Amino acid sequence: MTCRRLALGLAFLLASISLWVLWGYVEDLLLVSYVPYYLPCPEFNVKLPFRREKPFQPMTQLQYPQPKLLEHRPTELLTLTPWLAPIVSEGTFDPQLLQNMYQPLNLTIGVTVFAVGKYTCFIRPFLESAEKFFMRGYQVHYYLFTHDPAAVPKVPLGPGRLLSIIPIQGHSQWEEISMRRMETISKLIAKRAHQEVDYLFCLDVDMVFRNPWGPETLGDLVAAIHPGYFAVSRQQFPYERRQVSAAFVAYNEGDFYYGGAVFGGRVARVYEFTRGCHTAILADKANGIMAAWQEESHLNRRFIWHKPSTVLSPEYLWDDRKPQPPSLKLIRFSTVDKDTSWLRS
Ligand code: UDP
Ligand code: MN
Repeated sequence: MTCRRLALGLAFLLASISLWVLWGYVEDLLLVSYVPYYLPCPEFNVKLPFRREKPFQPMTQLQYPQPKLLEHRPTELLTLTPWLAPIVSEGTFDPQLLQNMYQPLNLTIGVTVFAVGKYTCFIRPFLESAEKFFMRGYQVHYYLFTHDPAAVPKVPLGPGRLLSIIPIQGHSQWEEISMRRMETISKLIAKRAHQEVDYLFCLDVDMVFRNPWGPETLGDLVAAIHPGYFAVSRQQFPYERRQVSAAFVAYNEGDFYYGGAVFGGRVARVYEFTRGCHTAILADKANGIMAAWQEESHLNRRFIWHKPSTVLSPEYLWDDRKPQPPSLKLIRFSTVDKDTSWLRS
């Protein structure tokens, strides 16, 4: 009897000790490992003062066709570069869906355009067609650089659209006017545009819009494929081939030949880009050399190292002097047929 009691007592004692030891572990775990980590530190709730932060607004309810992974290609054109940048063309995007995604962001899109010398004759058709087709429904800020502000025609602008006329010095050489754009654009961004716009497009003035150009073109760094060279091999691209130039491109390099008449992106990326091109142009100047196609050569050199995140198909940079090929469903922005010898005389 006493023996049985003693055994029971011992078992009870052992059980109590194990429970106590176990509780010790649990208590340690609760106290040391977990609780303090999940208390938010004071910095956690501090709001960072990002510039012009856009309030989040969910997309409105919208019906659009379901994307299908196994569907055939929507266009004859390549839709993705080997570095996974979209190549934007008709059929690759849903304009209504993009409109609904971008409209609530309240973005401002900047445009730089130069009209020096006889090129002031292009301002009216450029602006009038841009008002009809370029980023309709968005806030747009045109920065028009000219030697002759009095020659700028009065073009009525839609609501939320603004034109700043900025006087610049004219140059006798047309190459110089064209090349100086990189420097002028980077200075404009540093001075004011970085506070005024979210995205910036840098466009030639001797062009007109013919069809909608919308938010599908917005990307960090945007390049447009030149209408003259999309069907030829890279060896035939008119890159600068002299090694002494900072724009030199070897025969085994190059993706697409991009046009100097259209580039853009987020304003911070366009700043880096134009500064880089300007520095390379200055290096060439110091060596007494001008690249084969002036700033377009430098732009192409730079896009090989700094790949564009969005590539626009030649729909966005066409040339009226060429017939529209069947592979391009739409011409959105095109060089007008111009008298080059008169313009440059
Ligand atoms: N440009 C200008 N005045 C000139 C030459 C050029 O304003 O005398 C500007 C204008 O914006 C023009 C751009 O620089 O669109 C590029 O020149 P251009 O269009 O003649 O080059 P292309 O497109 O023929 O290569
Ligand atoms: Mn041009």
